[in-house]
Amino acid sequence: MAGNHTGERSAGGTAGEPTERDALAAVGRLIEARGGVVDLRALGAVRITRCPVLDCRVTRSLRECREESAEEEGQPDLSGLPVYRNLADHPVPPPHDPRVRRVRELVLDGSVRRHGCFCGNGKVPCSMCAGRGRISCEPWVRCAACRGREGCTECGGSGRRRGARPAPERRAGAAADAGGAPADCALCGAPEAACPDCRGRGRSRTVCADCRGRGSLPCPDCGGSGKNDHEACGGQGVRTTWTRGVVEDAPHHEQVRLPGERLPFRVRHRARRAGAWRRAVLGGGDPLPGGLAPGHRAALGPLLERRPGEVARRVELAHLPLLRVEVATDPDRVFYVFPGHERPVAVPVASRRRARQVAAAALAAAFLCSLLLMAALLPR
Ligand SMILES: [Zn+2]
Ligand SMILES: [Zn+2]
Ligand SMILES: [Zn+2]
Ligand SMILES: [Zn+2]
Ligand SMILES: [Zn+2]
Repeated sequence: MAGNHTGERSAGGTAGEPTERDALAAVGRLIEARGGVVDLRALGAVRITRCPVLDCRVTRSLRECREESAEEEGQPDLSGLPVYRNLADHPVPPPHDPRVRRVRELVLDGSVRRHGCFCGNGKVPCSMCAGRGRISCEPWVRCAACRGREGCTECGGSGRRRGARPAPERRAGAAADAGGAPADCALCGAPEAACPDCRGRGRSRTVCADCRGRGSLPCPDCGGSGKNDHEACGGQGVRTTWTRGVVEDAPHHEQVRLPGERLPFRVRHRARRAGAWRRAVLGGGDPLPGGLAPGHRAALGPLLERRPGEVARRVELAHLPLLRVEVATDPDRVFYVFPGHERPVAVPVASRRRARQVAAAALAAAFLCSLLLMAALLPR
């Protein structure tokens, strides 16, 4: 066994690649813990294969530029926005963190125009009060008996009698509405033609609480001014149009699958929890870290090429050195060894040979079962 006996594991918690000696020590401890005795240092006793694991996640910030026509009421302050001539060439720095979406707004040079509105000063007459500022309100509370409807069948509350003679039913109706005998009208003087409560006036003696008898109220829509803001120009009397340039940098995540041995679930699970992964975060121009397997390095190369529209990149690498140890005297098991946080961790799994044996045994058992079943079902 050609192992680096000086020890590659660096001190201070950052575990490096386990040396073969460390790996064998971890495997030996595991075998001895189950009562086995083996000399792993004997010639041909073990076979060690390196199968490092690499996880790679790439986040690219991809840029999209677009131009759109913008319009706003009044005179918005655009002085804080950068001005461009050619959006595609305009230098906009990439986002500091490619994982963050960022939208930058710019203004096309010379595109800002102010447009005066036909309203002039941004105000238009109020549509509710027709510019008067007040709306009419009944000065008196309506008569409760006739509810303000025609208090007098002769003049209808106007004081001027109609020409035709009233029908007796109508008189009776007005009196019935009022709940008493019809009274003489106070307005036109017609006898027995009016509501007994208001005597044809249609209102009570109580003054309206809303307008206190004034007969009008300030308009609730314009607050009494008679004018409202013109909606089209937002009350500014002016509109501004311009060409807006938008530079949007959006993150695109890629989980990179690298070629390599598919590890047994048990090993992946333990490695994820107990492994001392070496992690590295690379920016756009950073070189790959050292210590990567040549196969990984070759596979990463094309994946890390710049994509169209890419302005920034973040590559997260997690690397775990892993050794597979096969022990000649223990052919049913394979040991995977990786650096843990304190010392190397060895995980035993059934070898392919053992897995085949188990499958064959299961098949044989099933075959035997079916034979017994057939024998039991056959007529004697
Ligand atoms: Zn206007
Ligand atoms: Zn109004
Ligand atoms: Zn009348
Ligand atoms: Zn009345
Ligand atoms: Zn009123």
